[in-house]
Amino acid sequence: MPTSPTYRPEPRFFDLGEDYGDAVLPADFPETRLRVRNDRAAATVGLDTLTDAEWIAHFGRFEPLPGQPGPVAMRYHGHQFRTYNPDLGDGRGFLAAQLRDDQGRLLDLGTKGSGQTPWSRGADGRLTLKGGVREVLAAAMLEAQGVPTSRALSLIETGEALERGDEPSPTRSAVLVRLSHSHVRFGTFQRTAYLERPDLTAALAEHARALYHPSVAVGDVPGLMAAIVAASARLTARWVAAGFVHGVLNTDNLNVTGESFDYGPWRFLPHYEPGFTAAYFDQFGLYAFARQPEAVFWALTQLGGALKPIADVGALTEALNGFGPRYITELRAAFLERLGVRSLGEAADQRLVDTTLALLRESGEALRWEPLFHDWFGGFSSSERALRGPRARLYQGETFDAFRFALFEHEPDRPERLEHPVFAGVEPEEMLIDEVETIWAAIDRADDWAPFHAKLERLAAVRDARQQV
Ligand code: AMP
Ligand code: MG
Ligand code: MG
Repeated sequence: MPTSPTYRPEPRFFDLGEDYGDAVLPADFPETRLRVRNDRAAATVGLDTLTDAEWIAHFGRFEPLPGQPGPVAMRYHGHQFRTYNPDLGDGRGFLAAQLRDDQGRLLDLGTKGSGQTPWSRGADGRLTLKGGVREVLAAAMLEAQGVPTSRALSLIETGEALERGDEPSPTRSAVLVRLSHSHVRFGTFQRTAYLERPDLTAALAEHARALYHPSVAVGDVPGLMAAIVAASARLTARWVAAGFVHGVLNTDNLNVTGESFDYGPWRFLPHYEPGFTAAYFDQFGLYAFARQPEAVFWALTQLGGALKPIADVGALTEALNGFGPRYITELRAAFLERLGVRSLGEAADQRLVDTTLALLRESGEALRWEPLFHDWFGGFSSSERALRGPRARLYQGETFDAFRFALFEHEPDRPERLEHPVFAGVEPEEMLIDEVETIWAAIDRADDWAPFHAKLERLAAVRDARQQV
């Protein structure tokens, strides 16, 4: 048995029957070079005891893990940039396994780049190595910042030459395995609604309720909707507090657990700019940084529409309308956490959020918050240090004074946590495009993986430090 006693297979998606997915075969790759083996994540599901050869067999050649029925491409539809597409579905990935983690959560092992499926629409079913590297980095960055995210479990380079119009061609190929808390998307429900199959919608809703929102009562579809709304509001607030732009908030990229996944053209804000857009193909800035709450709300309205055949419209609408208040509450919580300060109640917390945003807006500063704020705190006792350097202008003026007042209101005694590495700027948590490009250039030009792995190590350390704060 290549797995440890903490490996607990539980392939529940398959309980839904044949209407939701298709058995598929993985691609037969010419090479399988192990590039990322995330043993921290693997340990949470009892897969850290695999040998490298076993790892490659399961995550590069997709021999089913014990107790798993084999790859299934999930069926779903979705709105892409607000246009409905009934031809989506797992076109280059599949559900490889489901298992419980050490907290009892049901997780999916989902792939990206594992070959063609009935939903490939003539495309190759492959993932570029660069795309894989970018998803690994995005997930590690978000995890370090406390954003609910899928984790990259494995990245294996697969030795094919891919043609991609938007990349220097040919480019290298890879297959990614992610650990995600559900791949049931808003678009999974849109599909059963489109097919006019309330029976399928009801079974899917019960599946999502029982496995992912068990505190909701059986049959309470508006309750399920409210739970998905709340989780989505939390996720969106945490992206915003992290300065993260997902890039493609189509309804097939949002799931029922409010955990983000499927990172394509993501960016962290290089400077504070509400209209900052990550995807070059997003010509109208639909998914720009500050439009993310609106985009997620719009996607939720589509989910609500898909649930209409099985639930009361008024109750669904009420659940949907919970998004705004919940988002604001979650944004306050996310900002407090990011700043490392405690709550002083709604009004004072909101003042801190407002003054922080005002300062960022006025200065156009990057969201390099922790290191910056540490300087500010240092500067409070040592104005000379604070007033040096390119950020000096931030330390003068009414907006900074208002911000400083709000911050000190929250943390008057400058407690030890601000000395903690997470908040002291030992590890800047932002990953700007330059850093990603540098990491990728080392891999692509010199096959030098050291900067990539060093970054992952640093991010893991930040994540660990954060959990101890
Ligand atoms: P994404 O942009 O990764 O969320 O993908 C959107 C849709 O396009 C999904 O149905 C994918 O499975 C599909 N897709 C994207 N790239 C490919 C590819 N290279 N081969 C097949 N399907 C793809
Ligand atoms: Mg997707
Ligand atoms: Mg993609």
